[in-house]
Amino acid sequence: MAVLGLALMAGSATAQGIQQTKGDFEDKFRQLDEVLADPNVYRNAAGEPGYQYWQQEADYEIAVELDEENRRITASQTVNYTNNSPDTLRYIWLQLDQNRYKRDSIAEMTRTFSAKSQGSVNQRSAKTPRLSLRSLRREQSMTDIEYGYDITRLEGDNGEPLEATLVGTLMRIDLDTPLAPGGSFEFELDWEYNILEQKAVGGRSGFEHFPDDEREGGNDIFLIAQWFPRLVAYSDYEGWHNKEFLGSGEFTLEFGDYEVEITVPDDHIVSSTGVLDNPRDVLTATQRARLDRAVDADRPVFVVTPEEAEANESSNPSGSKTWVFSADNVRDFAWASSRKFAWDAQGFSQPGADFETVMAMSFYPKEGGELWQKYSTASVIHTMDVYNRFAFDYPYPTSQSVNGPVGGMEYPMITFNGPRTTLQDDGTRTYTMAEKVFLVGVVIHEIGHIYFPMVVNSDERQWTWMDEGLNSFLDSVAGYEWDPEMPWTRSIPRDLTSYMVSDNQVPIMTQSDSVLQLGPNAYGKPSAALHILRETILGREKFDFAFKEYSRRWKFKRPTPTDFFRTMEEASGVDLDWFWRGWFYTTDHVDISLDRVFHMEMNTEDPDIDYARLRADRDGEPAKVGVTANEAEGKVTWVERFPDIRDFYDENDIYTVTNKDRNSYKSFLDGLNDIDRRVFDRAVEEDAEYYALEFSNVGGLVMPIILGLEFNDGSVEKMYIPAEIWRKSPHKVSKLLIFEKGKELTQIIVDPDWETADADLENNYFPRRITPSRIEAYKSSRSFSFARRDIMQDSTVELKTDEDDDE
Ligand SMILES: [Zn+2]
Repeated sequence: MAVLGLALMAGSATAQGIQQTKGDFEDKFRQLDEVLADPNVYRNAAGEPGYQYWQQEADYEIAVELDEENRRITASQTVNYTNNSPDTLRYIWLQLDQNRYKRDSIAEMTRTFSAKSQGSVNQRSAKTPRLSLRSLRREQSMTDIEYGYDITRLEGDNGEPLEATLVGTLMRIDLDTPLAPGGSFEFELDWEYNILEQKAVGGRSGFEHFPDDEREGGNDIFLIAQWFPRLVAYSDYEGWHNKEFLGSGEFTLEFGDYEVEITVPDDHIVSSTGVLDNPRDVLTATQRARLDRAVDADRPVFVVTPEEAEANESSNPSGSKTWVFSADNVRDFAWASSRKFAWDAQGFSQPGADFETVMAMSFYPKEGGELWQKYSTASVIHTMDVYNRFAFDYPYPTSQSVNGPVGGMEYPMITFNGPRTTLQDDGTRTYTMAEKVFLVGVVIHEIGHIYFPMVVNSDERQWTWMDEGLNSFLDSVAGYEWDPEMPWTRSIPRDLTSYMVSDNQVPIMTQSDSVLQLGPNAYGKPSAALHILRETILGREKFDFAFKEYSRRWKFKRPTPTDFFRTMEEASGVDLDWFWRGWFYTTDHVDISLDRVFHMEMNTEDPDIDYARLRADRDGEPAKVGVTANEAEGKVTWVERFPDIRDFYDENDIYTVTNKDRNSYKSFLDGLNDIDRRVFDRAVEEDAEYYALEFSNVGGLVMPIILGLEFNDGSVEKMYIPAEIWRKSPHKVSKLLIFEKGKELTQIIVDPDWETADADLENNYFPRRITPSRIEAYKSSRSFSFARRDIMQDSTVELKTDEDDDE
């Protein structure tokens, strides 16, 4: 309740005027419009871009050089910014994501200390804070190296320096001449920064060092993203999206065209957003021929084989090479570079699309091994296959998966994915089931992000769920279409129940950096909600139409939550306000309990029938305990001892029918009008089985009631009662079910297929079942204690040296 109140107040002023002060009734079906943004000419009440929808454009030309030795990049960039808004801009904002890693950034200064860490033998009490080696490594890296941009030149296209002001991860550039609607502004800047070591510092890009490679000094994989100063989004609903980059909330950007020249050591292989414009300068004739062959191949073709990649590991550059990539209509640009990369490719055909052949490609070091050879590019293609059906044809010419230190991250046409094999003592590489699930899952997920939010451009710095939730939903659809036997987790309703009953959570509709437990909140819960919407509430036909409509409407545009909610409702034709309200604006969970069930028989009102039934009911009751005990003891009753005392009432019990009763039955029938008489006669004749089911809503979230019904003839039925049953009584409802005579219920199960995320299954059974479970015998484990050490014996142990370890 409190949470809902807050959301209402935050949503609109009008909602504050509504107060329910009598009783505890809560209208869970109240229209959501008072919470949603007001429709206008830019985004209309149907959830579509309005007739005056606009968005800005930012085009970039960048020349960047990777200094492998010093792990530093230096770049020169030209930006052309077009103001399509109706507003005149006196300044523009850039986002400098690398400045998040400056020591004095808001993100660094507000990092909180987490006492949780690896165990240590010196722990005296659980309350003493501990510092993990991982945390120490990060602290050391932050101390040793200065991160963030060094901007060495900033000037307008007239060559004059521009005024700029740094505000955290943002930079404001003041314009000498205000930028009028329809105008464009070109400016140039030079900058450089130190690439962070991802494994030490974290984040979504950086280098990873491989000290064990044969090459002197080892090798690195460079994943370069959020690397150049990018225009902050300017929108009709937010103005400048100038929210500090704190780490969780990713970003939103403007679409634009890119021309990027990437100069790297000449033995490196580069993977990048866009299309390679100068293959003749950077690829061998063999590599180009292999790429050509990959276009029509039905399995991935190596452009650089694993053997070649392993040989490259020990090479040394003789100079540098410049790889030129161009990309149109993308909202960002990322790349990766290493001499460790093997490279495979396979064309994905989508007839009728803007790009009828998409090159699906993977780049990975030997550590990726067979896991990557088998599954990476295949997963890229499978993703496009599935997502194209749900959204739109893949709108770019390439689709890539690159292995590196980042567990999973997406950029237009390129994704970073982490899973690897493990080297065994015998030199082979193996991987676990978990790594396999991780690889296929993460590639699907990250390639899926190229649709959401790289094309359907929602703002992840504000609403993580808009891309993570939608994408987790679709990636789980794709996962089950890949192989339902794999142990996928986290995205379907049954995976979310323990999270949804937990206390430490906020509504899905919470700004990204304030979300507690980002995984279940922004990925799992919205995904589960969409599964329920698709499979249970709307059905596939209505859901898929509406979801595709949302994707089509907002492809290459900038949707808000309001646009999503409205489109799904408008296009499906189903009022879903209650659903968005419950699932997205509250922290209620699903728990419907079937409390009581009554089985009823229709009275005929005919005393000759009904009284006999009543007598049978009475005779069916268990005998009185004291009386049976008396009989067992051989007690003789008074009436047995003196039988002559018996009278009329010994022959007639209280259910004896008299003519008076028959007369009143006749007058009852005579008193019915024709219609009532027909209804009554039919009911008596059918003599159906009537059941009254009493439900309570323990979790608070109103949901459809799905019933699995089992009958005495062995048959089974599934019944769907829409959520609207709760509209006038959100806490308790009863439902009457009628079956033909003799068809009696033996078991009722609420949500028998676990499709609604009902958190307590036991109260779903009527009659209640014996809860199946397993018991574990366990030994209590004692924690370390100085006092319990056997110092006498331990003192005799010999000291181990490094030489011992080498043996
Ligand atoms: Zn994601």
